[in-house]
Amino acid sequence: MYSPSSKVVGIDLAGSEKRATGFCLLERNQARVLVLHTDEEILRAVHEGVRVAAIDAPLSLPRGRCCLRDDCSCAGKAHFRACDLELRRMGIKFFPITLGPMRQLTDRGIRLKDRLAGRGIEVFETYPGAAQDIWRIPRQKNPEGLKQALRRFKVGGNWHTPQVTKDELDALTCALVAAEYLRGKTRAIGDPEEGLMVLPYGDSRFKVRDSREETKE
Ligand SMILES: [Zn+2]
Repeated sequence: MYSPSSKVVGIDLAGSEKRATGFCLLERNQARVLVLHTDEEILRAVHEGVRVAAIDAPLSLPRGRCCLRDDCSCAGKAHFRACDLELRRMGIKFFPITLGPMRQLTDRGIRLKDRLAGRGIEVFETYPGAAQDIWRIPRQKNPEGLKQALRRFKVGGNWHTPQVTKDELDALTCALVAAEYLRGKTRAIGDPEEGLMVLPYGDSRFKVRDSREETKE
């Protein structure tokens, strides 16, 4: 049940603690964005009372993989998850999970998910690029356009400044998906036993076909 006091966070996770992670705490219609680096900083910023964390990072491995290492016997078994293949069918661009830098991000994302889930927080994977495509607004490569377009959500807070970074705008996007999730306005794509990705509802252009139909192809 959605409660207007529900606190959510959006995390645009970097693959390494040396790089900037965009973070957004969204409570009611107020967002606080910031740039963080270490896992400990991120865990501290997720305040008491946060119900949901939406993370932009792969939080699961393709079926048949025990890791993303090249030197493991699981290498070459699978490069995509069911949710990745669904994204591709939707015409949404993304980086394959087995691509070099994505591996580190995946490992970090899964570790962070486990630690947040251990605190009783509901954690899911989302993809701000996909949410932005579904909402038909610019992606972060056009930060000014994205910032302008995000105003439609009527969220106040410190992101209305010229200094806001593209990572923070993606974190805000993740937090908006988390808020939509609490309102029942999202769908999950992929295979629940493998790993799901949560995305906002879009229009018919992005209607996801039933995955059982896909297997007949
Ligand atoms: Zn392995």
